[in-house]
Amino acid sequence: MKPKVYIETFGCQMNVADTERAATGLRRSGYELCDSEAQADVVLLNTCSVRERAEHKVYTRIGEVKAARPNDRNLIVGVMGCVAQLEGGELFKQLPSIDIVIGTRATDRLPALIERARDGERKVIDLGERDDQDHGWDVSPVERHSPHVAFIPIIEGCNKFCSFCIVPYSRGRERSRTPSEIIAEIQRLQSLGYREVHLIGQNVNSYRPRVETGLEGFAGATPFCRLLRAVAATGMPRIKFTTSFPRDFHPDIVAAIEENENLCDWIHLPVQSGSDRILKLMRRGHTRDEYLKRIEHIKNSRRRLALTSDIIVGFPGETDQDFNDTLALIRECEYDGLYIFKYSRRSGTPAASLAETVSESEMKARFNELEAVQREAQRKIYAGYVGRTLSVLAERGSTRSASDLVGHSTCHKVVNFPGDDAVEGDIVNVIVTEAKTNSLYGMLVNRSSVA
Ligand code: SAM
Repeated sequence: MKPKVYIETFGCQMNVADTERAATGLRRSGYELCDSEAQADVVLLNTCSVRERAEHKVYTRIGEVKAARPNDRNLIVGVMGCVAQLEGGELFKQLPSIDIVIGTRATDRLPALIERARDGERKVIDLGERDDQDHGWDVSPVERHSPHVAFIPIIEGCNKFCSFCIVPYSRGRERSRTPSEIIAEIQRLQSLGYREVHLIGQNVNSYRPRVETGLEGFAGATPFCRLLRAVAATGMPRIKFTTSFPRDFHPDIVAAIEENENLCDWIHLPVQSGSDRILKLMRRGHTRDEYLKRIEHIKNSRRRLALTSDIIVGFPGETDQDFNDTLALIRECEYDGLYIFKYSRRSGTPAASLAETVSESEMKARFNELEAVQREAQRKIYAGYVGRTLSVLAERGSTRSASDLVGHSTCHKVVNFPGDDAVEGDIVNVIVTEAKTNSLYGMLVNRSSVA
């Protein structure tokens, strides 16, 4: 019987993509992937370390996994992802019951690492680099998180070193995949019936491949803009990309979206703070004005582009005035969505040495105030969609109602509508009849695919 592996994924889309890739390699090596830890011979937790709470979840989950099978001496437990990369061998001290530690670039060597643990080796660890960064990104369709939407990493790692952020330490320096490989993957996905791809990376618009094979003939002010046009030319019906880094956000990205209908009308551009003083302490590499110039450009686009962002409240030294600057910026930007995070001290980052001046209760109060302002802005934006017809990819059945489907619009809004299985996977027109704060409800306009 084939050994069964269960992988549980925490954190960002990069981790989801890594899990898909790990599962592909494991199945190729003769393992079976299963949906529950109870059936598994090997349990792997693919972890996130971006905030302290995410990291703590791992420790709790390992305890639960072990507690459920206290006498199972054959059960192998491994920690992969960002916590594994950062903590390394220390994890064996903190979690003596684990068998394997797999760093963020060791995913492709997982089968061999598991074999070593199954052969009785204790404390198996690999924090090494990728064997060859341009190959081995293949993901089998059966391992993808959706049969209709695929995540395609185009760049991994981060060179920005924002003072609060652990990512450069957990994921290493920026490495871009070659354009020809990305384009071939998208063409393959298209032939398999995928309707939407997300080009993903910590900073997608910092994309800088070593060779530009595949981009010949595509104009663009940066390699990322050329890649956007090349990917659009594949004819994949919907292309989204996230996350964009403000300093590298070139106006040509907006031009590429205006020229190509299949480049979706949504941009995620995290600002983190509206205060120049805090932005400097965060080492973001952009001022408030520079950020707002980019927003103005996006808002002046011929297409209405949905805009989302991230904010950290309670960064060390954040005063009431700094926070008010953030509130004012949020009001000015009128974001379609906002992810608000309370500052979480990450050991090893430059900000970790700054005195934490914002108490937990102040942080909570700022979080709530920001959320209320955003909710009000969002309520108006979402209400503005009522009566409009959106192109929606019907991704899956709704968990709330058996007769409803749920999907995303091109502007990345969640849209619910009555529909049966036959529509799943289609791109359909939905007229919006009702708006809630974070989702829209509507009716199918016609059942024919519009792609
Ligand atoms: N690289 C992207 C950027 O900075 O533009 C985003 C990557 S990060 C994984 C996602 C979000 O988590 C960040 O935009 C930030 O708002 C938040 N974040 C990162 N480090 C944090 C920390 N130490 N405390 C609280 N939030 C944090």
